[in-house]
Amino acid sequence: MARVYNFSAGPAVLPEEVLSSAAAEMLDYQGTGMSVMEMSHRSAAFKGIIETAEQDIRDLMGIPDNYRVLFLQGGATQQFAAIPMNLMQNKVADYIVSGNWSKKAFKEAKLYGQANCVASSEDENFTYVPDVDGLAFSPDADYVYICQNETVYGTRYPKLPDTGNIPLVSDVSSMFLSEPMDVTKYGLIYGGVQKNVGPAGVVIVIVRDDLIREDVLPFTPTIMRYKTQADAGSLSNTPPCYGIYMCGKVFQWLKGLGGLEVMQRMNQEKAAILYDYLDQSKLFSGTAKKEFRSLMNVPFVTGSPDLDAKFIAEAKAAGIENIKGHRSVGGMRASIYNAMPKAGVEALVQFMDKFERENA
Ligand code: PMP
Repeated sequence: MARVYNFSAGPAVLPEEVLSSAAAEMLDYQGTGMSVMEMSHRSAAFKGIIETAEQDIRDLMGIPDNYRVLFLQGGATQQFAAIPMNLMQNKVADYIVSGNWSKKAFKEAKLYGQANCVASSEDENFTYVPDVDGLAFSPDADYVYICQNETVYGTRYPKLPDTGNIPLVSDVSSMFLSEPMDVTKYGLIYGGVQKNVGPAGVVIVIVRDDLIREDVLPFTPTIMRYKTQADAGSLSNTPPCYGIYMCGKVFQWLKGLGGLEVMQRMNQEKAAILYDYLDQSKLFSGTAKKEFRSLMNVPFVTGSPDLDAKFIAEAKAAGIENIKGHRSVGGMRASIYNAMPKAGVEALVQFMDKFERENA
């Protein structure tokens, strides 16, 4: 068996322990005589899986009792619509646009009400996050929306906007469980899990009780109402059972490592190896401005599209996979999520160094 170092932005690398443990339970989950893929979502075994998963993510993130955790489908993209449908009682929301994911969410929200772009970093191709100090929000805004880590441009918020009494909504898809977060600072946190938390097919929404409302926009489909899913414990219809089971395994893996503080230190260490190399390299340079650099997604370029293509091809031959950058930035992107071992980042840097010497 030859596993590669997979730098994909998502779906992405999962911890080997988690994959092995799922493989061992594939044919017979804990004496049930069937795999988790085959069992009823109403069974006692699955009830145990989803309840344990919820408790574990609550423990990991310190989620207070007045927040609900929903395991949903439709990806993060469906939430671009579900958020305004559920939260836009005044039909006004403020968006900070710091990359293409917040831009897409902003565009979607305009279908449902008055979505305002209160700050944007598009003027410099999203290489930074707009300054949040002194931002004026609409007094009647139902929420303020951010994407806290922009996967494509490799930026993250160094600090959160102070939205006062207006609920802050954050897309954390590409930084989910990579570091501790103060959940009480948000009205709603959500993310697709296929980067840091599990396989594609599950989106987790952590939402404060008072934002789970009856008076949603009238056309909101029943299944997309947070109340429907909160009342049913995410089991209003058949949930993505196997994905939830895998997320649960990742939560247990994180707990076993010592939790999110430990994970954060490991992530900082890994990111430093790559950024330190980039900062002294004469060939490669990081595209995001330093103070906004993501710990998870690291875009970089050589400055020559031909050399970038050569690098990507040679990297692949050396067992470094999915390092090609997103088309809107070009070059390369190394996504170094929780499950990317330090050895993977070291192997990448070693390879970059060799490539640099050969192509100087
Ligand atoms: N938000 C962010 C920050 C993302 O990185 C992505 C996917 N790459 C999305 C939203 C969209 O997620 P999905 O494909 O699950 O709809």
